[in-house]
Amino acid sequence: MTHQASATSTIDSSSIKTIGVIGAGQMGNGIAHIASMSGYNVRMLDAAEPALAKALATISKNLDRQIAKGKLTEAEKAAGLARISTGTNYSMFSDCQLVIEAATENEAVKKQIFATLCPVLPPETLIASNTSSISITRLGASTDRPAKFMGMHFMNPVPVMQLVELIRGIATGEETFAIVRDLVARMGKISVSAEDFPAFIVNRILLPMINEAVYTLYEGVGSVESIDNAMKLGANHPMGPLELADFIGLDVCLSVMHVLYEGLADSKYRPCPLLVKYVEAGWLGRKTGRGFYDYTGEKPLPTR
Ligand code: NAD
Repeated sequence: MTHQASATSTIDSSSIKTIGVIGAGQMGNGIAHIASMSGYNVRMLDAAEPALAKALATISKNLDRQIAKGKLTEAEKAAGLARISTGTNYSMFSDCQLVIEAATENEAVKKQIFATLCPVLPPETLIASNTSSISITRLGASTDRPAKFMGMHFMNPVPVMQLVELIRGIATGEETFAIVRDLVARMGKISVSAEDFPAFIVNRILLPMINEAVYTLYEGVGSVESIDNAMKLGANHPMGPLELADFIGLDVCLSVMHVLYEGLADSKYRPCPLLVKYVEAGWLGRKTGRGFYDYTGEKPLPTR
C-alpha cells in the first residue's frame, strides 16, 4: 500500500457524487443501474472487457422494461446511461467517493482487487464489498482503511429487491456506516444492519430453510411439487423453496451451507447429501436448464 488513509479526512453522504463498481456481473450491473438512476456518476470496472458491454446491454434492457411500464422516459434512460463509464484501468476510480466491490466470490480475488485499488484512491474514499459470505473484518483488514470499509449486501435482482444488508466489520467506523446507510436510502432502498457473522441475516435464515426443503425431498416426505405448494399455500411464500433454490443456483446454495457449517461449527447446518449430488451432477438450477425442475420445455417440470 502506498499510503495509510488519514483518520481525519472525512466526507458526508451529500459529498458522494461518483461511485465505483468493481465487477460487472449479475450484481455489479444491478448496482451500477440503481446508482446511475439515482443520479450518481458511475465508474464500472471488470477484469473481463466483454463483461462490460454485456452489463451495459443488460442495464439498457432493464431500463426499457421500466419505460414499457410507463415508469421511466427515454430521456431519463439516456441520461442514466450517460452517467455510467466503463473501463479496465483502476485509475478511473481516483475521483470516486465510494467504491463498491462486486467481483467473483473468492477471497484471494477480492484481496488482490483491494491491493490494486487502495493506492489509486484518495484517503477519504470509502470501500464497500457486496460479498455474501466472506468476513468483512478480514477483507477490511487487507486494505489501508479498515475504518472506511464495510459490507453492502445487495439482493438479486438489485433493481427489483428493496433490501440492502449493511455489515460492520469490527473496525468499521460509525461515520462510514452512517454515510453508507444514508446513501442506500438516497438510492431508494431499505437497509438493515447486520453484524459480521457467517451469511449475515437473510442467507443465515433462508438457506437452512432451503436445505431443509431438500432434506424433506431426500427423505421422501414430499415430492418437489408437494413441498413447493406446501410452502406457497401454507406459509404464503411467493416461491416454493425448491423453485427458489433453482433460481439462486444450487452451487450457490451449497456454498452458503458450507460457509455456515464451517463458520459456525454446528451440525445443524450440514448440507443435504441430495443437494451435494445435484451440484456434482452439474444440475445447478435454472442456469443449467435442470435442478429440482427441468427447464428445457415450455413450462418447468418437477423432476422428483
Ligand atoms: P458474477 O459471476 O455474475 O460476476 C462477477 C464479475 O466479476 C464477473 O463479470 C467477473 O469477470 C468479474 N471479476 C472476476 N475477477 C475480477 C477481478 N479480479 N477484477 C474485476 N472483476 C473481476 O457474480 P455475481 O453474482 O454478480 O456476484 C458478485 C458478488 O456479489 C459476489 O461477492 C457474490 O457473493 C455477491 N452477491 C451475489 C448475489 C447473487 O444472487 N448472485 C447476491 C448478493 C451478493
